[in-house]
Amino acid sequence: CWHFFNHFFIYIWAPRGQCAYLLTLLVCVVLFQWEVTQRTLNGSQFYTYSVCNVGEREQDNWLRTTFIQRRPSASRVFVELQFIVRDCNSFDGTSLTCKETFNLFTSESDADVGTTFRKGQFKKVATIAPDEITSKNELRINTETRVVENLSRKGFYLAFQDIGACVALLSTRVYYKTCLATVKSLASFPETVAGGENQALREVSGACVVNAVSEELPRIYCTVDGEWVVPVGQCQCNLGYEEVKDACQECQPGFFKAAASGDKCELCPANTQRLDSGALFCPCLDGFYRAPTDPPSGPCSGLPSAPRDLVATTTQLSTGKLHLSWSPPEDTGGRTDITYSVECQRCEGNVCQLCGEKVRYEPASTGLTDNKVSVSELDAHLNYTFTVEAHSGVSILSPLFPEPPRITTMRLVERTSTSLSLSWDVSPRIRLQPRPIRYELTYRKKDDNLDVTTYIVLLLEKNVVQISDLAPGTAYLFRVQALGSDGSPGGSSIEEQFETSQMISRQMSLLFFESGMLIYRWAFIFLFRKRNSHSRQGPEDTYFSKQLKPLKTYVDPHTYEDPNIAVLKFATEIHPSHITKQKVIGAGEFGEVYRGNLKMPGRKEVAVAIKTLKPGYTEKQRQDFLSEASIMGQFSHQNIIRLEGVVTKFKHAMIVTEYMENGALDRYLKDHDGEFPSFQLVGMMHGIAAGMKYLSDMSYVHRDLAARNILVNNNLECKVSDFGLSRVLEDDPEGTYTTSGGKIPIRWTAPEAIAYRKFTSASDVWSFGIVMWEVMAFGERPYWDMSNHEVMKAINEAFRLPAPMDCPSTVYQLMLQCWLQDRSKRPRFGDIVNLLDKLLRSPDSLKIIADFDPRVSIRLPSTSGSDGSPFRSVSEWLESIKMSQYSENFTCAGVVTMDHVLQMKNEDIKNIGVRLPGHLKRIAYSILGLKDQTSTLSVFAV
Ligand code: AMP
Repeated sequence: CWHFFNHFFIYIWAPRGQCAYLLTLLVCVVLFQWEVTQRTLNGSQFYTYSVCNVGEREQDNWLRTTFIQRRPSASRVFVELQFIVRDCNSFDGTSLTCKETFNLFTSESDADVGTTFRKGQFKKVATIAPDEITSKNELRINTETRVVENLSRKGFYLAFQDIGACVALLSTRVYYKTCLATVKSLASFPETVAGGENQALREVSGACVVNAVSEELPRIYCTVDGEWVVPVGQCQCNLGYEEVKDACQECQPGFFKAAASGDKCELCPANTQRLDSGALFCPCLDGFYRAPTDPPSGPCSGLPSAPRDLVATTTQLSTGKLHLSWSPPEDTGGRTDITYSVECQRCEGNVCQLCGEKVRYEPASTGLTDNKVSVSELDAHLNYTFTVEAHSGVSILSPLFPEPPRITTMRLVERTSTSLSLSWDVSPRIRLQPRPIRYELTYRKKDDNLDVTTYIVLLLEKNVVQISDLAPGTAYLFRVQALGSDGSPGGSSIEEQFETSQMISRQMSLLFFESGMLIYRWAFIFLFRKRNSHSRQGPEDTYFSKQLKPLKTYVDPHTYEDPNIAVLKFATEIHPSHITKQKVIGAGEFGEVYRGNLKMPGRKEVAVAIKTLKPGYTEKQRQDFLSEASIMGQFSHQNIIRLEGVVTKFKHAMIVTEYMENGALDRYLKDHDGEFPSFQLVGMMHGIAAGMKYLSDMSYVHRDLAARNILVNNNLECKVSDFGLSRVLEDDPEGTYTTSGGKIPIRWTAPEAIAYRKFTSASDVWSFGIVMWEVMAFGERPYWDMSNHEVMKAINEAFRLPAPMDCPSTVYQLMLQCWLQDRSKRPRFGDIVNLLDKLLRSPDSLKIIADFDPRVSIRLPSTSGSDGSPFRSVSEWLESIKMSQYSENFTCAGVVTMDHVLQMKNEDIKNIGVRLPGHLKRIAYSILGLKDQTSTLSVFAV
């Protein structure tokens, strides 16, 4: 009698993972000899299935479950049985037939077969034996669990076979195990069914939580027991985010995080702005800077204050030598890389001028790290003024650097009825490399109310002048302005009025005699037409009309019958033993270019670039090679590559120039794509423009101005290079033969120069506009993959390059001005220098960004006129926008098809680890362009 088994035990089995029930209450519908007893317990109905034919032979009693649907991934299920088996010994005379076990069977099926039951379709899983059997007096409940593996069909049945035992089945639980959905190391993993396909561990891929990224796909293993083990691939919070309880939270206001890492957000360092939450970095406060070598996460530093307690001591006055020493600045601006520069001015009366190169400084006049310097070769009985300035790594970033020379006062020194002697003071100039200043003195009669006013302009090297041939008793207006070392006007000018004295008769007759002499040694007269001040007539005669001629004019080495003489005249001969070649850094048309050292006797060793002439040259090639030195040797400007000297008297001719650590500008910008703010890019352009102004002032036309011909040094100073007579013809790989003869770098060349070889400073201005574009576009090829022919056609149809991404509007406007068809209307280099100077002095002027059309400015195959086929892969697309470096980021984030790409939002791009704002924008714009491929623009019309 089994009545006392008539309740069903329900309890929760708690494995370490989760167990999911397939069936909690087994309703056995197919019964062969098994009995079902129904009881109500606590309001629920329970069934007990029992069989107890112990006295009868050959028992084969079956009980089968209903169809159990299987979750597809659950191929391994557990069957937990609670049952009672009665002790055979407790029955009398049944020992031969009585059994104490029963069998568990299973059969898989794709459909519920209802009550159809075929024994043959069942597979035995296990024999179930009780651990404890129930005797007459004591009830023993057994629990056994068996695993049914390798299930593959939609569902299955379980069946229990009794072969002669006295059994009651109280409960059956069928379940499978899962590893619970979890977040580990900032990666989330989905709930996963444990085990399967005979594997003890199931590998599971996860995804970084929102705002986290990982270098490799995060993975983890789910054990058969439903436990997660061995996480692989750490996710880290993106820049601007930090880990807080398994999630990435934005940095608090005033904190920043500059890289995707496991680090916490850092407090904004000293002298930086506190941005809102989620800051990637903390920009410098106004007046504070980060040097190019400073980490972007480091503090910003101010400019050092002036050195203190400057003392001059002389040991032996007669030697013309003195020692200067000073104390370090009170405020170093928070930096340790303080250096000093010394400037010497010689003053006689009120007239001061720079001491020039005669004075010697030991160890040097600039870049001093000690607080002292010796100055020698001073003349006796003269007043010298020394200015010592402290610099640091951030000095070059200050808009105040270099401080433009400023005129402070102008005074009359002497006057007669026909002459005036004037002098003026210049503010103590502070600069790293003292160079002579020049002054531009403009004067005119005060009451000159005629339609045509005559100005007289003098370029002077001293701050004193005597002007003769003036009208007696007449007031004149004088304006004097200091010119920077690059010829650019200084910050301010000063205007004063002085009057000649009344004439006495003898002077009058003399004046009459000399009245024709209105031409001064340095004077150039130009006419300023009041009514037509803004219009220029003929392009040729007016283009340079307002330009001041420099003291020196470029001499074409061709004018020398023997070009070797030109080299000797303009370049210093160097003995090859003073030159050490170290490493090949480039290849020119004539031979290799080396990096090396130059150690001239009595001079410090300097790093140099050495251009060599390859063996087997002809005399013509040798002359062409050396012509570059003849040209370069005539120039002396901060933004023109400096010639150290030449080797001509030995078999292997060489040209030695200053060494520019960062090489050619186009390559440099490509390598640092997106890394510089506009301000710095405009600073580079300013340098190039200053160099070009100098060249145009010397009436030198470059003809091949392009970013590849600009060199960049460690201080990011840009210098114009590549001079030479045959250079455009032979040397430049961009050179293309034109119908007008000769090879021309089409993309950089003004239309009139292409059409009829009209190369002028105005055509150099056109090329400068292209260089500006190259700079703003970080070394992108102008007109991308358009052919030369397409470029010329577009230009003739008034199309112009569109604004590069993030280009300040003012800068793009200047480019467009450089590309005016009428060359007389293009700005001159002087204008360009002034404008760029203004932009640098008011950085706000760079804030308005020119319209930018991603469809045009990021060249996609669909807009480039090529086959227009869509991208086949994410990596192909990234390559087309030159962002291949992010391929892995996209893959890791699971962005593996172009469909995924098209769904990306700006936030997603940031989250996958694209850090630089320039890159973020490029990718975002490209996606925009992909979405909107309806119009095909080539270039902007002006
Ligand atoms: P060039 O024949 O002048 O075009 O020089 C060929 C290459 O040599 C340039 O593209 C530069 O990479 C390198 N080079 C030339 N001159 C210098 C220099 N002064 N400093 C550093 N690199 C230079």
